[in-house]
Amino acid sequence: SRQFFVGGNFKMNPNCVADKIALTKLLNEAQLDPSVEVVVSPPFLYLIPLKEIIRKEIQLAAQNCYFKDAGAFTGEISPAQLKDAGIPYVILGHSERRTLFYETSETVALKTKAALASSLSVILCIGETLEQRETGQTTDVCAAQLQAVVDVLKESDWSKIVVAYEPVWAIGTGKVATSKQAQDTHADVRAFLAKAVSPAVAAATRIIYGGSVNKGNCQELAVQPDVDGFLVGGASLKPEFVDIINATV
Ligand code: 13P
Repeated sequence: SRQFFVGGNFKMNPNCVADKIALTKLLNEAQLDPSVEVVVSPPFLYLIPLKEIIRKEIQLAAQNCYFKDAGAFTGEISPAQLKDAGIPYVILGHSERRTLFYETSETVALKTKAALASSLSVILCIGETLEQRETGQTTDVCAAQLQAVVDVLKESDWSKIVVAYEPVWAIGTGKVATSKQAQDTHADVRAFLAKAVSPAVAAATRIIYGGSVNKGNCQELAVQPDVDGFLVGGASLKPEFVDIINATV
C-alpha cells in the first residue's frame, strides 16, 4: 500500500528567519503520525539552514530546478547542486511556474528527467484551469501534462515520483475540490498511468491533492481511496499544518 505523503509548499514565504524558526519549532515539537512521509519546501535560500534545524524525519524539497547540471545559466539552480546540498526532493511543474514563468510540459519533462538523473525525487504537479474543468477537459489536460513526462522516462524512474494533482482554480482561492472531484480525477490519473506506463506503476505511485487544503477539509479528502496525501500551500505556514499531516490518524 502507498505511504501517505504530506508536503508543505512555502512558496515565496516566509521572508524572514524568525518566521522560519517559529514554524520549525512548532513542527519539531508536534506529535506527527510516524507513518506519514513529510516534506517541506522553503525558498532555495532557506533549504540548508532549515535542514540543519528541522527534525530528521522531515525531508526538504526545492521548489524548482533547471535541467542542466552546470554552466552559464544565470539565476538557476541545478539538480546536481541540490543533490550536493543534501536536498532529496524537488517540486516541478507547479502551476505558478507553468503560468507565471511560462514553463511548458516539455520543459517540466526535461527538468524531471534531469532531477532523477541526479537521484532526486520529484513532486510532479499537474492540474487544469477552471475553464478547462468547465469544458470537460480535466482528464485530457492532466493526461497531456503527464504524457510529456512519460515520453522521457523509463518505467523504473516512476518509483521516485509523487504526482500532485492541483486544480488551478483551487490553488490559493479557498475553493477546495470536493472529495468526489478529487477522487474522480485521481482515479483518472491512475488509469492514465496504468495505460501509459504500467499497471504496477499506477498502483504504486502516490497521487496527492493540492489546492486550499486545510484542517477542516483534509480528513474527508484523505479517506478517498486514490488520494494518497496532500501538497499544502497557505496552511503549511500555520499550526494547522500539523493537523493536516495527521489527517489519517
Ligand atoms: P494553497 O494550499 O495555498 O491553495 O496552495 C496549494 C499549492 O499550490 C501547493 O503547491
